[in-house]
Amino acid sequence: MINRAIELVRKSIEPLVFTGAGMSRESGMRTFRGEDGLWNEYSPEQLSSISGLRSNPEVVWDWYRMRLMASEGVVPHAGYEALTYLQKEKGNLPVITQNVDGLHRLAGQTDVLEIHGSMRTASCLDGCGFSTELTSEVLKNIPPFCPDCGAILRPDIVLFGEPLPQEVILRSYRLAEKCDLMFVIGTSVQVWPAAGIPFTALDKGAVIIEINPVQTELPHNENVISIRRKAGEILPLLFGTGEKI
Ligand code: NAD
Ligand code: ZN
Repeated sequence: MINRAIELVRKSIEPLVFTGAGMSRESGMRTFRGEDGLWNEYSPEQLSSISGLRSNPEVVWDWYRMRLMASEGVVPHAGYEALTYLQKEKGNLPVITQNVDGLHRLAGQTDVLEIHGSMRTASCLDGCGFSTELTSEVLKNIPPFCPDCGAILRPDIVLFGEPLPQEVILRSYRLAEKCDLMFVIGTSVQVWPAAGIPFTALDKGAVIIEINPVQTELPHNENVISIRRKAGEILPLLFGTGEKI
């Protein structure tokens, strides 16, 4: 199975990567669903919505501060490095991620499409145009306020009930339509419309190499190679060896 995967990557002309929370699990970031998932403890409606942010800004910002503090010192694991290596080798490997932790960029990857935004920055909830990096200085007082207009700041992630960033999602779907190979790594393929991205690639005839220790919503057929291993273990085995792809 691994040999077939390596062969497919070697031959691929338009490869694409699609990742979810499981990609960052071995860097120490928790997933939302599944064993040890954050939603087992917290309600998404309360903590990840505009209405929650407006009615309980302290509670919501406290949760983001906790997530940011938990991500301090988190570094991309060997699987990220392997993807960075592969991107350089192929010259053309866009990375679509549902993650908001910024680890693909931190690993030196370029052409990263963050379809759910990034938790590394925040901007004015009233849209006056103010935007800032989320440093510990900004998070000293919770909730943080916009220095320009006095409104509350919001994290630059897509909150429940909000549309996804249109340009990013459109390009993601366009890439999915024309790719010949898609890596689907560490995602339960349950969160829509993001989940439509791998299904679009499959519909258009692409082959999927899935990396996830657990079975997902993806079908079982000859176009889906499911490697039931952890991203941090298998990606370096596939491409991290310095061998030419
Ligand atoms: P999910 O929590 O629904 O699913 C995670 C998947 O990763 C599961 O199928 C699990 O089996 C798999 N997994 C766990 N450990 C793995 C490993 N070591 N290697 C490979 N796979 C592994 O995540 P999702 O599908 O990304 O959807 C959740 C949503 O939550 C996304 O929209 C995302 O924006 C957000 N989120 C982001 C982060 C982050 O930025 N790190 C963390 C949690 C949630
Ligand atoms: Zn403002």
